[in-house]
Amino acid sequence: MSGHKKLKPEPAARESGWHAMEAALVAEKLGVEPAVGLDREEWRQRRDRYGANILTPARKKGPLLRFLLQFHNVLIYVLLGAAAVTLLMRHWLDAGVIFGVVVVNALIGFIQEGKAEKALEAIRNMLSLQAMVLREGKRLLIAAEELVPGDVVFLQSGDKVPADLRLFKTRELRIDEASLTGESLPSEKESGPPVAADAAIGDRNSMAYSGTLVTYGQGSGVVVATGDYTELGRINKMLAEVPPLTTRLLIQIAAFGRKLTVAIFAMAGITFAFGYLLKGFGADEMFLAAVGLAVAAIPEGLPAIITITLALGVQAMAGRNAIVRRLPAVETLGSVTIICSDKTGTLTKNEMTVQEVVTAEQAFALSGIGYAPRGAFSLQKNGEGEDVSPQDFPILTEICRAALLCNDSRIVPGNDEQWQANGDPTEAALLTMALKAGLESETVQGQFPRTDLIPFESEHKFMATLHHDHEGRTMIYLKGAPEVVLNMCDGQWEKGESRELDRAYWEEQQERIAARGQRLLALAVKYPEGGRRELGFADVREGMTLLGLVGIIDPPREEAVIAVAQCRSAGIRVKMITGDHAVTARAVAARMGFAATGEAISGREIEGMDDSTLRQKALDVDVFARVSPEHKLRLVRLLQEAGEVVAMTGDGVNDAPALKQADVGVAMGIKGTEVAKEAAEMVLTDDNFAAIAHAVREGRTVYHNIRKSITFILPTNGGQAGVVIAAVLAGQILPITPVQILWVNMVTAVTLALALAFEPPEPDVMEQPPRDPRQGLLDGFLIWRIFFVSMIMVVGVFGFFVWKVEQGVDVAVARTTAVNTLILFQIYYLYNSRSLHHRIRSLRLFYGNRYVLIAIGAVILLQALFTYAPFMHHLFGTAPVAGGDWPLMILAASSVFFLVEGEKWLWLRIGQRRKIQDGN
Ligand code: ATP
Repeated sequence: MSGHKKLKPEPAARESGWHAMEAALVAEKLGVEPAVGLDREEWRQRRDRYGANILTPARKKGPLLRFLLQFHNVLIYVLLGAAAVTLLMRHWLDAGVIFGVVVVNALIGFIQEGKAEKALEAIRNMLSLQAMVLREGKRLLIAAEELVPGDVVFLQSGDKVPADLRLFKTRELRIDEASLTGESLPSEKESGPPVAADAAIGDRNSMAYSGTLVTYGQGSGVVVATGDYTELGRINKMLAEVPPLTTRLLIQIAAFGRKLTVAIFAMAGITFAFGYLLKGFGADEMFLAAVGLAVAAIPEGLPAIITITLALGVQAMAGRNAIVRRLPAVETLGSVTIICSDKTGTLTKNEMTVQEVVTAEQAFALSGIGYAPRGAFSLQKNGEGEDVSPQDFPILTEICRAALLCNDSRIVPGNDEQWQANGDPTEAALLTMALKAGLESETVQGQFPRTDLIPFESEHKFMATLHHDHEGRTMIYLKGAPEVVLNMCDGQWEKGESRELDRAYWEEQQERIAARGQRLLALAVKYPEGGRRELGFADVREGMTLLGLVGIIDPPREEAVIAVAQCRSAGIRVKMITGDHAVTARAVAARMGFAATGEAISGREIEGMDDSTLRQKALDVDVFARVSPEHKLRLVRLLQEAGEVVAMTGDGVNDAPALKQADVGVAMGIKGTEVAKEAAEMVLTDDNFAAIAHAVREGRTVYHNIRKSITFILPTNGGQAGVVIAAVLAGQILPITPVQILWVNMVTAVTLALALAFEPPEPDVMEQPPRDPRQGLLDGFLIWRIFFVSMIMVVGVFGFFVWKVEQGVDVAVARTTAVNTLILFQIYYLYNSRSLHHRIRSLRLFYGNRYVLIAIGAVILLQALFTYAPFMHHLFGTAPVAGGDWPLMILAASSVFFLVEGEKWLWLRIGQRRKIQDGN
């Protein structure tokens, strides 16, 4: 899998001590020109020589161990114990069958769990790492797997370092190396002087190590080691990272199993004592009865079915673009009460188009949709527009120049007249605007080459670039959120010069544009003294001149609008948490159908509130604007304190704490940084809010299906145990022998019960309120249902057995009739179990879940063998059932269907009456 060719590695690339060398020497030794990168041929050769940049996967548990682990379960121990004692008592056949069933059961668990693990692993692999490299002078985004020693790699905040690098350029680079050194504070990196050869990893500040996380700044470096040769590979930390297939639910089930074991022992003991002492049965016979009771009561198949249901849920979510990184999230999703979502790209399409440009003197509307550079400017006057040529307005040209230069995106023509944005969509929209004004990217960029920049970060909400023209003039262009930019300006561009800033005018314009749900951006310029080649925060903090405002629309995603409505009907509050302007956010939220959009809380207001005020506000208000990542963390915490189960989306480095704190952290797959993904429980591959709603639906379905499986399986055990007890009480011989009981358990678990794992969501899953997370899996209702059905089965099965015995038929025939009756009961009851509360309408018997029909077909086949095949007679002590008895058995078994449906109807009636009474 690693593709490692066993060529001898080139000595230089397997050297260590890179941190003790000057960067230039490192590049020389690795045979690369840092400004150009490797060429294709060189890369290919190195790829062959060094193999893929991946860690050799951890030695997985071998198949034998995995198989043996299937037996590592208290319930199975009890069965094995029973088999051993049976063996001692020289009941060879019984012991053999018990062993056989245990092994078959383990085999099935082994195969199914193997499949589930594989599916999960495939899903995990969908989140592979990418890296930005320089090859042949061009920046390329490639799979991190393809890196080779000598590659030049760029890092920026949010990235996971893809290989070990010797840094040669850094800008305020900080890297969290906790995964390697355990140090929780990020270390500051610089390309600077080498450190001592024996410096500890944490002190080698010119190195960036594979698997660590960039928390701030940018940098670039040369790959010095890949794959197993990295520090990470050396200590093989990553191996511990693969999360095991376990969840709170499985732990609960295991605990339930232990309690059940104790209860079974007690019950078996009492039955034994009762039969032996009071009823005068022989010890041998009573022991068999006790074993029968024990095996009857053990739901051997349950753990495997739960695992499979979970894995199916995870697969279904992946099919809907939500990748679960940690399995317990599947359960938590079903109980989410609040989803806090980003706006841009998640709720909206992130397809930006500039629609309005406002200067100190005029307002212009801009036509055209998408990124295609086709559209016209029209001057707005008294509510009417007049088409104008942008060249007639020098201020427009200046704004568009700023928009084009303070910009890192590109637009390219795609298929069918559609243009595509490469890079940040907000910037692409600005570029489109500039092209509509008649500017040409390359010409303008050639006239005003860029010498430095401060990149955009959500935290400071602006971007600035430094340029020079050929006469040696220097200029700084700035763009960003209006209130931030306004604070940096003391002038506005008016009548060809910088005049005093009219703050009130601009604020009024902002309100006006934002109220239409448009995103706002302000553009400003400064002409500092010449000669400067570097740009710092101090250069833009004051003395800028405001050029104008632009309003950008970003239409809501239609699917997200539907998903918001679904969430509302599912009793889930959706809250928008955005970096955008409050008025814009409110307008968009209102358009998308949010519940409470009358008010928006801004980040600044959040800062001014104490915890109890904010907690109340956080519950009442659905729109939070100009929010920074620290505010998100506080909001999540307070909502959780108020008893809510919170899902929170995020993409940036600083979102990681909030994502970790949330019950379900959701990271964006496209826009999100590696840091955010690492912190999240779930990653959305298409960044779309709708995927969260689907995942919630799937989470609820998984939970329902597990409950359905339990309510289906346990009455089988309860019924059989009841039959054994009833027989002992009545002084009858056992109606079903232990080996027959095992047969029933195994056959129904792998067929009927498994079919419930495939049960589709109930039509009203998203119309019910969220489940109370504190509520255990087995509530009063389920216990009642299990008891109720167990009793029906006891009466039916025991009744048939006694009836047959009284007819004077052979015991083997009576027993086979009893077993078949039990199975028939289960077939009917499977239909009841397809919905715990809803009655099954006639058509649903046949459609919706084809596995049900397949399972029933399989059971009928197996029962035919069990009843009529001679070798089965020998193994299980069965005998052919008279053909004439079948109609009666089928009819009698159908009683469970009608009784349980009647019971559901009663519950519904009671529920309705309560509702009506509550209403009055
Ligand atoms: P959300 O948090 O919902 O994704 P958002 O994408 O609007 O919302 P940010 O990306 O933090 O949040 O943007 C906040 C503000 O910063 C925007 O309203 C805009 O004014 C400004 N802004 C966005 N992108 C850029 C950019 N590339 N350059 C300069 N300013 C920008």
